Amino acid sequence: MKKFTALLLALVMLLLASCSQGANPDQGAAPDTGTTSNQPQGSDSDTTTDQEPPQEEEPEPEPEPEPEPEPEPESYEILDPTVMPEGGQRDGVTYTAYDGLVEHLFFHPVIAYPELAFDGDAQEKGLDDYMITTGEFTKILESVYAKGYVLVDIADVWSETTDEAGNPKMVRNTLYLPEGKKPLIFSYDDTNYYEYMLENGFAYKLILGDDGKVWSWGLDPEGNEVVSRDLDAIPMLDKFVEEHPDFSPFGAKACLSLTGYQGILGYRTATDSKVEWTAELEAKRQAEREAVGPIIEELRRTGWTFGSHTWGHIRLGSGNMAKIQTDTQKWFDEVGSLVGPTAILFYPHGERPDGNDWTNTGAAFQYLQEQGFRVFCSVGTESFSFIKKDICAVICDRLHPDGTTLRKSRKRYLQFYDAKDIMDTSVRPDFGVDWE
Ligand SMILES: [Zn+2]
Repeated sequence: MKKFTALLLALVMLLLASCSQGANPDQGAAPDTGTTSNQPQGSDSDTTTDQEPPQEEEPEPEPEPEPEPEPEPESYEILDPTVMPEGGQRDGVTYTAYDGLVEHLFFHPVIAYPELAFDGDAQEKGLDDYMITTGEFTKILESVYAKGYVLVDIADVWSETTDEAGNPKMVRNTLYLPEGKKPLIFSYDDTNYYEYMLENGFAYKLILGDDGKVWSWGLDPEGNEVVSRDLDAIPMLDKFVEEHPDFSPFGAKACLSLTGYQGILGYRTATDSKVEWTAELEAKRQAEREAVGPIIEELRRTGWTFGSHTWGHIRLGSGNMAKIQTDTQKWFDEVGSLVGPTAILFYPHGERPDGNDWTNTGAAFQYLQEQGFRVFCSVGTESFSFIKKDICAVICDRLHPDGTTLRKSRKRYLQFYDAKDIMDTSVRPDFGVDWE
C-alpha cells in the first residue's frame, strides 16, 4: 500500500514537472526576471502567466517513510507442570495429577526439499534412515495432537532432591496435566545445520524475521534464497503451537540437542584445531557467536531448551576418558557459553558411556555427572526411564520417528501415528516397507 502511494506521488510530481516545463521551457536556463522578455514569441499559452507556479502549489514533498517500529514480541507464557493450578483449573480446563509414563520422541532436522535429499547420492540412505520430511513432520504433529498428547519440557519431568541421609538424588515429578491428556517430550538432535545438510535439502540456519520470530533461511533447489516458517521443524513447531495452543499447555517446545564442531543453529561458532587458527578466523567466529545470541534468546523465551550432544558427536562407550574430558570442556566453552547451563545429555549414536551398558556407572558416566548432567538420554524401542540408585542421575530412552521406524516399526508407533498415513512414499526412495 505504501509503495503504491509513493508511486502515485512520484507520478503526480512527474506530471506537474512536465506541465510546467511545457509552459516555461526556459525555466532553469534563465533567472526568473518576472518579465516576458525572454519568452518564446508566438507561444499561444501563458504570455500573461510567465511566473513559475507559486511555491505553495507545489505538491507536498513525499513524507519520509515512517521507520518500522521494533516488533513488540508477543507475550509468551511458560508454566510449571509440577504445580497444580489454583483450584485445579486454568482457563476453564481441569487439571489432574499424572504419574505415568512420559513418552519421548526425537527428531533430526527435517528435509525441506526431498528432491535434494533423495537424489541417489552417497547421503541418500542415511537421510532416508534417520530423517523425515517437512510433510511427514506436519502429519506426525497433527496425529500426536489428535491423540491427546501435550508437550512437556524434559527438565520438568525429573528434579534433583536429597534423600534422608542428605545425598542428592533424582526424583520423578508428578505432572499436573489437562484432564485426559498424555505428556510428551520432544527433543531435536543435531540442530546445528551441518555442512553436509546444506546441499541435501535442509534449512541452512535459523534467523529472526521482521516479526521477531524464528524463521529458517536456506536455498531452494534452484538456488533462490528462501525465508520460511514451513521448512524447518523449529519454526514449524512454533507455528503449530500458535495454531493449537492446547498442544503445549505449559509453553514447552523441544529440547535442542546440540553438538559444537560445526557451530550451532547454522552459525559457525566452532574453533577448528585442524587449521591454523588466525585472528581473522577468530574474529569471524566471534561475529557468528554474536549473531546467534538473539536467536537463542528468542528460542528460550518461547519454550525451547538446550542439551548437550557432545561437542564432537563422539562415542561415549569407548572409555577414552581423555577424549571425553576434552570434548566436554569444549562443549562448555563453545556451546554452553552460548546456550547456558544444562542438565541434559543426549548420547551421540545412542551409545551409552562405559561400554554401552545402562546398568553401569563407570568412570565416564561419573565424570559426566560431575559436570552437571543429570538426565542421560539414549535411543530405544520404548520411552524407558530409570532413576539410578548409586548416583544422582536418570537415564532414559527416546523413540525415533524416522525412515527406519516408518518402514519397519509401524506397530510400535501406532500410539502416536500410523506410518501408513505418515510416510511419503512419493518422495522417498523405494527401499520397501514392513507394515504388518
Ligand atoms: Zn546425533
